[in-house]
Order: sequence, then C-alpha cells, then structure tokens
Amino acid sequence: MDGARFRIAAPLLTALLYFTGAAFSVHYSRFGGGVAMIWVASAILAARLIVIELREWPLTMAACTIASTVATGLFGLGWVAALPLSLVNMAEAAAVAWTFRTLVRTCWPKDVLELVAGFYLVIGLLIPVMSAVAGAGIAHLANDIPFETNFFHWFVGHAVGLLAILPFCISVARTRRFNERLVPKGHGMSGVLLCATMALITFGVFSQTIRPLMLAPLLFVMLTAVWANVAMAMALPVILALVGGVLTLHGLGPMGVMAFDPGDRIQLFQLYVAITALCALPVAVDMERRRQEIRRLAKQERRWRKLSGLAGERIAELAHEAATDALTGLPNRRAFERALATTIESGTMACVAMVDVDHFKQINDRHGHGVGDEVLTGFAELAGQALRGSDMIARLGGEEFALLLKEANIAHAEMACARLAQRLADNAIVTSAGPLRITVSCGLAELHESGEAAMLSADKALYKAKAAGRARHAVAA
Ligand code: GH3
Ligand code: MG
Ligand code: MG
Repeated sequence: MDGARFRIAAPLLTALLYFTGAAFSVHYSRFGGGVAMIWVASAILAARLIVIELREWPLTMAACTIASTVATGLFGLGWVAALPLSLVNMAEAAAVAWTFRTLVRTCWPKDVLELVAGFYLVIGLLIPVMSAVAGAGIAHLANDIPFETNFFHWFVGHAVGLLAILPFCISVARTRRFNERLVPKGHGMSGVLLCATMALITFGVFSQTIRPLMLAPLLFVMLTAVWANVAMAMALPVILALVGGVLTLHGLGPMGVMAFDPGDRIQLFQLYVAITALCALPVAVDMERRRQEIRRLAKQERRWRKLSGLAGERIAELAHEAATDALTGLPNRRAFERALATTIESGTMACVAMVDVDHFKQINDRHGHGVGDEVLTGFAELAGQALRGSDMIARLGGEEFALLLKEANIAHAEMACARLAQRLADNAIVTSAGPLRITVSCGLAELHESGEAAMLSADKALYKAKAAGRARHAVAA
C-alpha cells in the first residue's frame, strides 16, 4: 500500500478495531445499565498512538471518536452522552500513550523497574481514576445510577483493560510498524504451543469449581514470562481474559458459581486477570532488557574482534616494513643487528662479512641512478642464490651489504665469498642499460660476544680488500 492510502487506511483500521472493542464491551458488560465494566478499546487506541508519529494522532483520534460515539450511541448510554464520553476516552488514550512514550524514553533500558512502576501507577491507576471521574459524571447525568457505582465500574474496567491488554497491544502495534516479528524467528511453533496450552489450562480451570486451581494459569504465565519474549508473555493474560471471561460470563468456573451478581463476578475475574498480568510484566520486561543487552554486547564483541584483528595485521605489516629495505626487499641494518644478537645468544658459531660493490659510483655516473638501483636489486637476487638458506644477507645502505654466515668458521666464510664472487662473474645483471657485470669486495670477521665489534672488524678487513685492489676478500686480523 502506498503512503497516502496507508495514512487513511491505518486510522480507519484502528477505528474499526476500536469500535469492535467498544461495542463488545458496551454490549456485554453494562450489567447495571451504567457504564461498561470491561474496557479494552483504550488499550487498542493507546497502543496505536504509542507507535505512530505525533502528527498522525489527530486523524487516528478523530476516527476513533466517531467509532466510540457510534458504539456508545447504539449499544450504550445513548446519543446525548456518547460524544462527551468519547472525548473522555480519547483524552484517556492520549494520556496513556504520552505517558508510555515518556516512560520508555527516560527509563528504557536502564531503569526497567521504574518503567514498570510508572506503568502501574500512572497508566494503571492515576489516568483511569481521572477518566473515571469525568466518565462517571457524564454517565450519572445521562442515567440514574449513582456516581460512585459508575465511577467504580469505569475505573476497574479501564484500569484492568490497560494493565492486562495494553502490553500485548503494544507488541502487536510495534510488529506492524517496524516489520518486527511478534514471535522471534524459529519460535513460531513454540508460540502456538504456548497459546494453545494457556487456552487449555484456562479452559480446564474455568470449567470446574475448585478455586485453588486458579493458581495454575498464573504460574504458567509467570514461567512463560521468564522464558519467552514480552509479546508472548503478554499474550497469555489476553487468552486468560478471553477464555476465562467467556466461561465466567456464562456462570461457569470458580467465580461463575459464586453467589454474586454477574457484575461483581466479572469484576472479581478482572482483578484476577490484572494480578496475573501485573506479576508477569516486570519479569517479562526485564528478561527482554537482558536479551537485548546480550545481543548488543555480542555485536560489540564481534566489532572489537574484527578491529583487533585488523590492528594485528597492520602491526605485523608495520613491523615488517620497519625491518625491510624498500629498494631490494632485503632485511635492513636494524634487522641485521637483531639477527646478530639472536645468533650470539644462541651460541652458534658464525661469521660476518661486509660486502661493498666496486666502483659503483661509476655505474651511477655512466647509466644513471635508476640503473644503479637495478644493479643493487640484481645483486641482492644473485647474492641470495649464492648463499645457503640459513645465511642472511642485509642491505646496510648505499651499495653496502652484510652477510651473516651461520655455523661457519673463517674458512667456510671465505668459501662463501668465493662462491658469491663466482656467481657475479658468471652472471651479468640484467638492467635497462643492458647486462652489467659487477665485482664486490668483502671483509670477514668471526662473530663472538659483540655484533658491533664483529661488524667493525669486518669493515676494517673490507677496507683492506679495497686497498688491495678490490674484487677480493680479506680477513680481519
Ligand atoms: P668503491 O669501489 O671504493 O666502493 O667505489 P664506489 O664508487 O662503489 O664507492 P663510493 O662510496 O664512492 O660510491 C658509492 C655510490 O653509491 C655513491 C652514491 O651516490 C651511490 N648510492 C648510494 N646509495 C644509492 C642508491 O640507493 N641507489 C643508487 N643508484 N646509488 C646509490
Ligand atoms: Mg661504499
Ligand atoms: Mg663501493
């Protein structure tokens, strides 16, 4: 249905439900000829007003005023009293809806008990008392029944209607509004079973006369309040009111056989329904709050887990970047020094070699810095191929590299340098300026207690190799 049509249809539907509720109440529960003793219409209208926008109130209330007036005019106290009584009913439903919205806004989800207490005292007591004064006054003028009797009947009918039926009506109204499920997904069958069981229990209890058995429906509603959602728990008092109400009206059940007049019997029954709903409501609402809280925490935890996972990945990336030379992808000086420290700690015998490309400046000068970079990258690749898997090559800066040769003495290290030189001799480096052949000079030193000392010694040996004519290695003294 499109927006404009829904804006007209929704108030009309609400008015139709209101009319049905009002007509049923007025027709069946005016035992003394005064006001109705059962009143569910205010709960229906108030639930609708709770879920719609304020600007939608006037149309909905206007439609329900007509519904209320017609119901009272046709079945109740007559046309003279009908309009004033309707206005009292509208004011009552509006006050209930406004109070409920305020309670939810200020108390949910932190102060659930305050919310329920506000619901009991303002919606279940104060507002029905005020509407009963106005309603009973108007009804008294329209018939001969004393003000007190009308007041009492109105008050009980409206208070119980609101306390016992409103929570369920709100659940239904919210379901339509927010496209939420009245019964959670996957719980449809258990919902049907619960309602059927409640109907059966109520039928069983209200078709016999043992009064203590009246505890059975109450206990079942309490159990459901702990286990099921609010809508489910609050549907059960409605079933109790319907099934038990019809049987009691027909003079059956523990209350039906009591030697009261029908009005007193129905009032006692209403009290019983109200007590059942009043007991279950705080439990159901608090359980709902807990479920929502658990869902919220679970969602938050998933978000944190995802965030911390991302942070972990980023930290690993940064750590890798901090230890890597950007041009060649080799470990950098920092990573090399750390590897030296780890090797010393492990007590493994090892040698350090400082490697410097010979006459590298000439390559830069002749072919440009870009080709120089390609040579450095090509060298890194060739050197990697010439070394064992357990050895490490790092770029210290410029055209200077360092090797960590593990489980190697100086003789082994010299062989490694010779292998490297041989590979460079056998393989030209492919660059954009064509294949280029390079040589390197190496300085070797054993690694003992200090990585720094080993690097310094190897550096001195490198200087010796350079001085001796390059393309060779020298061992630290
Ligand atoms: P020697 O045989 O004595 O080592 O001579 P050399 O020319 O290799 O040594 P020198 O230290 O004189 O020159 C090194 C050059 O390396 C100077 C510098 O511009 C260049 N260089 C340093 N870092 C880089 C780099 O990242 N890329 C390139 N292309 N050149 C670099
Ligand atoms: Mg150099
Ligand atoms: Mg050099």
